[in-house]
Amino acid sequence: MGKKTKAEDMNIRVCGIEPESIVDGPGFRYVLFVQGCSHHCLGCHNPESWAVDAGEEMTVSDIFEEIKSNPNLRGVTFSGGEPFEQVEPLVSLAKLIKDAGLTLMSYSGYTLEELRDRKDSATDELLDMLDMLVDGRYIEAERNLTLVYRGSENQRVIDMKKTREDGKVVLYHSDFDDDVVII
Ligand code: SF4
Repeated sequence: MGKKTKAEDMNIRVCGIEPESIVDGPGFRYVLFVQGCSHHCLGCHNPESWAVDAGEEMTVSDIFEEIKSNPNLRGVTFSGGEPFEQVEPLVSLAKLIKDAGLTLMSYSGYTLEELRDRKDSATDELLDMLDMLVDGRYIEAERNLTLVYRGSENQRVIDMKKTREDGKVVLYHSDFDDDVVII
């Protein structure tokens, strides 16, 4: 019989880490750039993140130890690469992050509707732990450098808590104010 991997020993393939970012979501955030993305958007800012066999593997617990060691963090952002192509280990990491009282945000090239349409319990579990989701592929023709937290006009910054409460997609206002704690 095969030995079951404990949730915290699961591996995440990682492209890079930014331990204290102020541009990938509200406040000081630990940003985990996962490795692997099948979207291949024209004009992608991070094409080195596409290959699924590049980057390096880290365990959920190693990543969480790093997060926990920084008391200045308001939250964690999953970026990429495509976080929703490594859902199961990210669910394990997300549980630790939420239990520690940190906020959780993720980027995805998939839309929220595409992710819900998977009808996949792990995907739903991850979505249900998010405070903020920036969704949709990057579309070069809709690029806009003035947008906050997103690169192209089609992408949405979704308030996941209100979306779950209201049962329909609720967006954050585009004019984020630094003085307002959003998440
Ligand atoms: S979803 Fe993001 S990481 Fe993937 S190709 Fe598009 S812009 Fe690049």
